Amino acid sequence: MAVKINYEGCILCAGCAAVCPKSALELVGTRIEHYPEKCISCGICVKACPANVISLVKESKQALTEAKKIKKSKMKTKKRNKKTKKAKKKK
Ligand code: SF4
Ligand code: SF4
Repeated sequence: MAVKINYEGCILCAGCAAVCPKSALELVGTRIEHYPEKCISCGICVKACPANVISLVKESKQALTEAKKIKKSKMKTKKRNKKTKKAKKKK
């Protein structure tokens, strides 16, 4: 599931950003930004929005593929960093 925001109805109260446990929402200027890579689709923001403009929707196949790619690339970076640390310790 993915968070979808109807920006036209948003009153910029920042309530969603305040309750998000993963800091996946942030008020940036005059817009709420959503960071899907941090989001765990818990739905807390949906319930917290006083304007009812946030919903959880099914992700498209393309979005899922993109999310998997990002996760894979992050894991690779982590592994690489671990190897580099180990190599440095040996020296
Ligand atoms: S669904 Fe949960 S994790 Fe995702 S933006 Fe909303 S509160 Fe944050
Ligand atoms: S809680 Fe709803 S109305 Fe308030 S900033 Fe978030 S999306 Fe906009």
